[in-house]
Amino acid sequence: MKNIKDYNLEELKEELVSMGEKPFRAEQIFKWLYQEKVKSFDEMTNISLELREKLKENYTMCNFNILKKQVSRDGTIKYLFDVLDGNAIETVLMSYHHGYSICVSSQIGCKMGCKFCASTGINFIRNLTSGEIVEQILAVEQDEKLRISNVVFMGIGEPLDNYDNVINAIHILNNQKGLSIGARHISISTSGLVPKIYKLAEENIPCTLSISLHATTNEKRSSMMPVNDAYPIEELIKACKDYIAKTNRRISFEYALAKDNNDNLEDAKGLVKLLKGMLCHVNLIPINKIENGSYTKSSNEHIMKFRDYLNDHGIVATIRRELGSDIDAACGQLRRKNLEQ
Ligand code: SF4
Repeated sequence: MKNIKDYNLEELKEELVSMGEKPFRAEQIFKWLYQEKVKSFDEMTNISLELREKLKENYTMCNFNILKKQVSRDGTIKYLFDVLDGNAIETVLMSYHHGYSICVSSQIGCKMGCKFCASTGINFIRNLTSGEIVEQILAVEQDEKLRISNVVFMGIGEPLDNYDNVINAIHILNNQKGLSIGARHISISTSGLVPKIYKLAEENIPCTLSISLHATTNEKRSSMMPVNDAYPIEELIKACKDYIAKTNRRISFEYALAKDNNDNLEDAKGLVKLLKGMLCHVNLIPINKIENGSYTKSSNEHIMKFRDYLNDHGIVATIRRELGSDIDAACGQLRRKNLEQ
């Protein structure tokens, strides 16, 4: 059966018309799904009984079950959801002074194999559908009775490797009759799939693009991120410059600092050289140690020195607050632990 949450509003109108219904029914259904957040067709009381029966026969609502929920001392909540086909995905809710932010997964497993990532031990199984991406937000909002204001595609999976479903999910999130989350409050993080960065620049969606950079030489970056062999740093930076020129939007570069690996002065100098003059921001991330991982976190002193060097040389850099460090906050950790139990 088809998942009704896989459809954006225009597609849902077409579905309804093909069932002999008026297009405005799609707007009513959208409102029930994303504003009233109902969990069954029976709750859609302004829809005729006959149509509700037809909807039940043809569509599921894909309501996730919570397999596990971990609450951190800092309020971060990590969910493990049953996606109803025997697979599980992770979603993380974070609380900031400006509101609630959610980190969603875009795939079950990941093909990219970044060496610092806990998802690396999880084989790629499949892409999540648009509805499964959107359901993560709905399920958390329903569970915690709150409204999410920011969405980051930074959970398990490479979002640009599931391009069409991620873009469609953003249309659903963004729609004022849907969840009405402004595109400026949505951030896509990529390991650097260059052709998809060019494609995203053409979409006219003013979301934030984050690039997982993590190193400034091809040798080092390839040792951390195999994707760099396919799309080396020069090509990646060229695509980023094109993205900025087309969208006039600032790019965020993610740089996870690993002790004695990419955290010395030479690395900071390399970063300045690479990003000088670009409309960008650098997010320094104290790396999360993962079991069997070969990287350990840089000292706080080292991280601050690295940041100060960047700021003193014209690159805006901030250190990301560590959230959920007591609840396996590196992506993939909760899922992997659970599967191993
Ligand atoms: S960091 Fe992201 S892109 Fe890299 S392996 Fe992990 S989930 Fe995939």
